[in-house]
Amino acid sequence: MTITTKILIAMLIGLVIGSLLNAFALDSSFVQNYLVQGLFHVIGSAFVNALKMLVVPLVTFSLICGVCGLGDVTILGRVGLKSFALYLLTTGLAVILALTVALLIAPGQGFEHVQALSDFSPPPAPPLTEVFINIVPSNPVQAFAEGNMLQIIFFVILFAIAMLMSGEAGLQLASGAEKLNEVMMRVVTVVMDFAPIGVFFLMAKTFSEQGIGLIMPMIGYFSVVILCLLLHAFGTFSLLLMLLARLNPLIFIKKMRPAHIFAFSTASSNATIPVTLQVVEKRLGINNATASFTVPLGATINMDGTAIMQGVATVFIANVYGIDLSIADYATVVGMSILASIGTAGVPGVGLIMLAMVFNQVGLPVEGIGLILGVDRLLDMLRTAVNVTGDATVTSIVARGENEIDEAVFNDPDAGVITE
Ligand code: ASP
Repeated sequence: MTITTKILIAMLIGLVIGSLLNAFALDSSFVQNYLVQGLFHVIGSAFVNALKMLVVPLVTFSLICGVCGLGDVTILGRVGLKSFALYLLTTGLAVILALTVALLIAPGQGFEHVQALSDFSPPPAPPLTEVFINIVPSNPVQAFAEGNMLQIIFFVILFAIAMLMSGEAGLQLASGAEKLNEVMMRVVTVVMDFAPIGVFFLMAKTFSEQGIGLIMPMIGYFSVVILCLLLHAFGTFSLLLMLLARLNPLIFIKKMRPAHIFAFSTASSNATIPVTLQVVEKRLGINNATASFTVPLGATINMDGTAIMQGVATVFIANVYGIDLSIADYATVVGMSILASIGTAGVPGVGLIMLAMVFNQVGLPVEGIGLILGVDRLLDMLRTAVNVTGDATVTSIVARGENEIDEAVFNDPDAGVITE
């Protein structure tokens, strides 16, 4: 049985046990204190920590190898520009799709919102000028300590370019970085060995807290978001892969499974970076030179699934409160969703905070977010899977353009599968 199959089975068992506990045993203080907040919480969170632990060293060593592998600053600039443009494009397409579908289906009309309101006061969103200024770290050590991905990418690229310019000293460091990268990849496989256990406890915890009953009053909103996520993941991405990269989207989607599982269970694109990197390099055959840059960048600035949620939530809340939005308002929503996606890291729940920023811009009541709070965790898991699929799609397109994809590996069904 492959490790992916084991993780998938563990995920399903966790989901079933969690849902059963939620339905039948949540009143028991034993279940609450010792299982949900005890065992499930401790092991699940420890596993997410272990994944996060990998991210900063892995991105650092792999990005140094990537830049040194490209060996040319102009190629780096071109890869950077292309991926940035494609990330903007896919996020833009995502929110336009979401707005169109939501306007057609009109979820939230006639919704009885008075009884369902819960408190929501969002933390203040960072001003956008700050977001851009903060790409440059004033203290790289702090950037590494805080895991600030954009700052880390900025500093590591600068450092690696300087390595390229430093002759012998740079070459020696580069070979050291290659060895460190290899060892770090080994650390990733060790952590992955524990993935079935970690994923089981994560799913059991989430589903014992998130009863399916929460979804029912919100079924309209919930299903429109899921419909748009599916349309984007299977429609938009497939079209882009076929048109811009001449790659078979069915193979792509199948090979993405491990990244999907991790994104779904952790609800964090950032924590999924080690898995996404492994999938695109080992299973899709994309060279480290491209992937080491585009994957961590995408995890930070590209959130198609999040943008979809924001588009649908805007239409839903406008309908619930009976507020008419103009074309200009919708255009603002598109722009704000793209900026929100760039300006925030891929961590659980962040999409909801940025939604407050979008609502403020178009004059929708921010407390309306309280309505969708209850179903957000489940949607967060699903949209994170779409977010990482977007990162891998753009990585594939850019790699194709740079001739950095090995088609034999891409088409080989067994490539990168660890069989035991
Ligand atoms: N959890 C999402 C991610 O990590 C972000 C969000 O939509 O809240 O990509």
